[in-house]
Amino acid sequence: MQRLYSNTEIDTVDDKASKRCRETLITTSSSGNNNVSSILCPQIATIQGEEKKVEQENRIIKITDLKDILECGICREWFVDPYILACSHTHCYKCLMPWLRVNKSCPACRCLILKPASENKQVAEIVKMMVCSLQDNEEKMIYEQRCTESQDYFNKEYDHFVGIINKATENGTKFLNITRLWNEKEKRIFRIGLERYAGRELTKYCELTGLSKEYILEAKFLEIIIAARNLDCQIPTNSNGAVDVMTLRMILLEQIK
Ligand SMILES: [Zn+2]
Ligand SMILES: [Zn+2]
Repeated sequence: MQRLYSNTEIDTVDDKASKRCRETLITTSSSGNNNVSSILCPQIATIQGEEKKVEQENRIIKITDLKDILECGICREWFVDPYILACSHTHCYKCLMPWLRVNKSCPACRCLILKPASENKQVAEIVKMMVCSLQDNEEKMIYEQRCTESQDYFNKEYDHFVGIINKATENGTKFLNITRLWNEKEKRIFRIGLERYAGRELTKYCELTGLSKEYILEAKFLEIIIAARNLDCQIPTNSNGAVDVMTLRMILLEQIK
């Protein structure tokens, strides 16, 4: 005698069949055989279509949420050429640099600037990916326009900076030399530049004193100690109490990044 199923049991049987079909669908989809799976179970293809739609809607919501995190606190737009400060706050280069010319603190939390701002490459990449996935073409165009303006600003600032250096060199200005131990006044003068510049300008500024990436990596023991003293860097030691030169080189590299 044939057994009759209750509604709940029928639902369960349907669920199991649906699950099996879905597993077949996933297996065949992953092997690239979508047509076969659709023929086998077209209603599951519809369910999957619905799930994709919901997934897409969720994705749009996440992008909106992320914009709050990935927007600059100064211009309230997507970050363009983002630079991060020691306090971990990030701002667009074009927004941050004019602020740092007159202030020695973070525009967001007012923490004192203890080391130069450095490029936040990961955030820059995430923002590019987010903007690429936007459906609003106007917003994309505005972002691209801001990227162009930022690059123009970069170049203009750098040219202006190089112009000042060249003029000073022509006038016989003597720049600080990293191989000599600086007095407190000289340290302060150098630190003003560290707080004010970032990126290419910072590299150029440090190189004027001889403090290049190559110098930090190749300097002899005494030279690296003098450089650390000039920059007021704490000198790290290993478990034996000896100077940890490798770590010291890394600390100095961080300073000029
Ligand atoms: Zn900004
Ligand atoms: Zn901050």
